[in-house]
Order: sequence, then structure tokens, then C-alpha cells
Amino acid sequence: MCGIIGYVGPRVARDVVVAGLKRMEYRGYDSAGVAVVSDGRIEVRKKAGKIANLEAALAQSPLPDSEIGIGHTRWATHGGPTDANAHPHVSQNGRVALIHNGIIENFAGLRAELEAEGVGFRSDTDTEVAAQLLGREVGRGLDLAEAMGAVCQRLEGAFTLVALDAEQPHRLVAARRNSPLVVGVGEGENFVASDVAAFIEFTRSAIELGQDEMVDVTPERITVTDFWGRPAASKPYEVTWDLSAAEKGGYDWFMRKEIFEQPTAVFETLLGRYTADGALKLDELHIPEAHLRGIDKIIIVACGSAYYAGLVAKYAIEHWTRIACEVEIASEFRYRDPIITGSTLVVTISQSGETADTLMAIRHARDQKARIVAICNTNGSTIPRESDAVIYTHAGPEIGVASTKGFETQVAACYLLGLYLAQVRGTMFGDEIARVMQELAETPKLIQRVLDNLSPLEDLAGRLVGRDSFLFLGRHVGYPVALEGALKLKEIAYLHAEGFPAGELKHGPIALVDSGVPVFVIVPPQGRDQLHDKVVSNIQEVRARGAFTVVLAEEGDDEVAPFADVLLRLPQVSTILQPLLAIVPLQYFACEVATRLGYDVDQPRNLAKSVTVE
Ligand code: GLU
Repeated sequence: MCGIIGYVGPRVARDVVVAGLKRMEYRGYDSAGVAVVSDGRIEVRKKAGKIANLEAALAQSPLPDSEIGIGHTRWATHGGPTDANAHPHVSQNGRVALIHNGIIENFAGLRAELEAEGVGFRSDTDTEVAAQLLGREVGRGLDLAEAMGAVCQRLEGAFTLVALDAEQPHRLVAARRNSPLVVGVGEGENFVASDVAAFIEFTRSAIELGQDEMVDVTPERITVTDFWGRPAASKPYEVTWDLSAAEKGGYDWFMRKEIFEQPTAVFETLLGRYTADGALKLDELHIPEAHLRGIDKIIIVACGSAYYAGLVAKYAIEHWTRIACEVEIASEFRYRDPIITGSTLVVTISQSGETADTLMAIRHARDQKARIVAICNTNGSTIPRESDAVIYTHAGPEIGVASTKGFETQVAACYLLGLYLAQVRGTMFGDEIARVMQELAETPKLIQRVLDNLSPLEDLAGRLVGRDSFLFLGRHVGYPVALEGALKLKEIAYLHAEGFPAGELKHGPIALVDSGVPVFVIVPPQGRDQLHDKVVSNIQEVRARGAFTVVLAEEGDDEVAPFADVLLRLPQVSTILQPLLAIVPLQYFACEVATRLGYDVDQPRNLAKSVTVE
């Protein structure tokens, strides 16, 4: 949520900053703004709405060339999405400009303090208190970095802050607590940003910043300290993907591109994590095997699509390991006083690794002595840093706000974890594990087959585009797929869509079924699965009430054909792995419907990627 970038170096800072903002626009698009220093003065342009509005403002009133700049794309929390509330915010004395990601929870008291001193506020944001405090400290003669440290010591909540000083045209300071910040290391130039995508065009060398750390940056120097000025160890790393991964590459939407990247994303996620004879090899799981053998409960904590990935994982993990597995929505988890002990394994799933709800949940779990395994797509982000172990999904950057390859690789990583636990605990024989692993290793090819046959979805989207309500039904692992399919339609096409366990429909929701209501049904594999026939009955129940049935069934399943208004085929795979295939047509359908409705598929209203506020 919210993208921030800072630049110092010989390029035209304004252009570097705007280009970086465009790569991070998925993080928030309520407003955008840039500040530069020129002739000892701070100059700002900022505009409500998307970056295009800022660019129009810049065209009308250009910013001067300069060698320092900061920029922000906002997801509003405090104060409406107006020009005045857009960042950067400049202190009343004109000394500093500051951008912020997060929420300053104690802003009201600080604002009152500053107002009592005669500071006049120009926005409704929580952020402006940080800008005014910093301006006050620098105005009193404190060094910029010392002043930033002093301000951070007074703030509560979540914040990444980046600031520049009118009197120091080659120096930025940035700080973070509970919100993301990475440093991009160039030659004779340096960057700070919420996300490496912002500077990947210029450098792949990055430094991750720890909790409550700050960085003092000039073109030649990067100094990492804590808020008290004590040196902190910096952790450099190389970004493994390049600019092309952060560009649309000929697709109309990032989401569509990311749907098509799923075979590679799953392949990369599995790569190197199993041996030739099908044994699991999770070297990164630095939790002693003896401890894993003593685990008596697993709690998966996540939000949104990651939560649905967790629901799939529950079926797999319980089946393979016989350990009781609960799945919790992170924002509910810690507030209900969950039962956690030293023998509980908490698994968190977060694409960004910055999801604030999930982060707070794991801190709570740690306090209760649980071990934490993170499943995450973003190297060095906060959740992996605060976990005992991490299984990275290797999906590459996910830029479409609605998750696709993120979900897919999270499910794949959960399977790896489940099989690994089964191996360590001996709940499956080695040859059984090898069989499942072999099948899992084949799924990238099968996902590709699904992708090669998506054209019927285009016709279907054309047929159904005027409908305003959709139901999705599944059982067992098909149920979370139904939930995720419905979420895609809600997120990007703004349509009423609900996922239900197919067997539950008759207990209430079937009342929603009316003539012509589209009902998507995920059918478990035929013959090998006891649920198949039950789902076929469920299809008939909705058909009898006039539903328009879209049935996803495996190749060769002819039993369902008479009950399907539209029949979509899935390659044969065992039940537990079917979600990796079944979700793909549902993602594509939502993308097609939203496109036909003329919506911005990558930047749906009210949403943003990487939800860094609670
Ligand atoms: N809380 C700040 C605001 O509403 C920052 C929000 C953000 O992270 O974009 O302006």
C-alpha cells in the first residue's frame, strides 16, 4: 500500500521518480506527488488521482532539473484523496519535504502539540505531523539524520518515511517501522523505495532495512543506523529478476500477463526443493526436525487470496500429516485470544511479506512461543525477517492488484511444506511422497494446457457480461477455489459473486438461485473421488431452479456433460492438486469480464497491493 521512492544522483531526479512511481502505482492510486530541491528551495507538484494526473500537472508546470527527488503514490487512510492531502508534505518553515507509507497512530496528540506552537496544518493527513516535526527539528539546527531519528522515536504505528532538506541537495534520509523500505545501490547514485520494482531499471543491487532502522543516503554513501544513530548491519542482496518482469510485455494488463506466467512461476517455486527420487528438500526450513516432529497443531494465518491458498493447504496438510490444521484470517486471529503453545506451528502466507494484519498476527504468535514459517514472494520483506523460516515463492513481481500467480505459487509452496512435514514425521511412505511430488512437478505443464484452451472463456464472458450476480460452488479443495474465483470477480469486475461449499447450498444460499443465474461448479476428479457424484447432484439441484451452469470437469468426465450449459475441461490430476488447474479459468474469466466492462483490471477501485495498514 502506497509506493514511495527517493533518488540522489546525476540523472534528472524528477524523471527517475515519476518512472519509479509508475512501476509502483499498483500500491496505491489515490494521488501522486513529487518533490525536488532546486536553488535551495523545495518544489512540489502533487495531484489527486492516478499518476497520469500528476504527469499532466508536470506538463503544465514543469519541475526544474535537479539531482534529488522524492515521490509518492497514495492509498489514503487519513484524509480524502485530494491534492492537499497528497504527499509530499512540506514543513511550514519550508526546510523539509516528506513522504510516508503507513499510519501514525498518535498523530492527533502530536498535531495538537505542534498547533499549540503555532504550526498551521495544510492537510488532514496523519503524515503531516512527521513533516512538521522534522522541519521543526532541522530548523532548530539538528542534523537531518539525527532529526529523523528523533522524530521516529516519537511516532507510534507504521511508517516508512523519506525526507529531503532544502539546504542539502544531495542527501536523503529514510526510516522504517512496520512498513517496507529497500535501498537501491547504484554507481554514483542511490535509491530508496517501497519496492525494488521502482529502481530495477537502474540497479539490481539492494539493501534490506530492518525494523526501526534508518538510512542516510548521498550519491556516494549509504549509512544504515537505528533511530538512535547506532550503526546497524546492512544486508545487501541481488534482485533475481529484471525490468522485463516488471513490464507488461505486450499484454493489455499485468494481470493477464501474470495468469500466463503461472506455469513458470510454479515451476520456479518447486525447483530445487525435491530430489530426483522425489524426496522433499527444504533447506531453508531452519527449524530442527525434532521440533517439527513434536508439532501438535498448525495454524495458517493469511488474508485475501492467501487465506484461500491456506484453505487449500489445510486439506492437503491434514491429509498428509495428520496434524490438526486451522486457517485463520489474520485480522481476526490475535483478537480472539487463540490457543497457541510452543508446539504450535504458525504458517503465514503473504505475497508481499508486508501485510500488516499478518505481521501483527505473527508477532502475537511469537509471544506465545510458536514457531513461524512464512510463505512469501518478496525477498527480505518484514514477515520473513520476523519468522523462524521462510519458503519463498518464486513468482517474480506480481503487479496486478488481484493475485493470480501469487495465489498459485502459495498453493504450490503449501504442498511442499505439507509433504515435507509428512516426510519428517513419517506419516507417508517415501514412495507415496515421491508419487505426489512427481505429479506436482508435472503441474506446470498441465497449467500450460489449461492456458492453451482459454478461448471458450472469452465467449462466455461475452455472454455473461451483463449479469450482476454469480455463484461459485466446490467441495473439498474445490471450495477454496470457488471462494477465490468469486473474489476475482468482486475485486476487478465489481460484481456480486459468492463461493459456497456445494453441499451447503441447500442449507440457505440456494434461495439465491433464480432463472439464468450463472453458477460455476468445480467438479472433483471422476471415479477416483467419492465427492464427484455428490457434486453432480449439486449441479442438478441448481439447474432444476433455472441456473446457467458453467462446469469445470476433468477431461473424460462425461457424466457431467448433460448438466452443463458450458463445459470447461481440466487435465486429469489428483483431487488435492486440482486447485492449481481449476483456478486458472476463473481468473481468466474475471479478467475478461472486467475488461469488457471497461474497468482498470490492474488497479481496481478502493484496493491496493501490499496492504501495509491494519
Ligand atoms: N496515512 C497516510 C495518508 O493517508 C499514508 C497513506 C499511505 O501509505 O499511502 O496519507
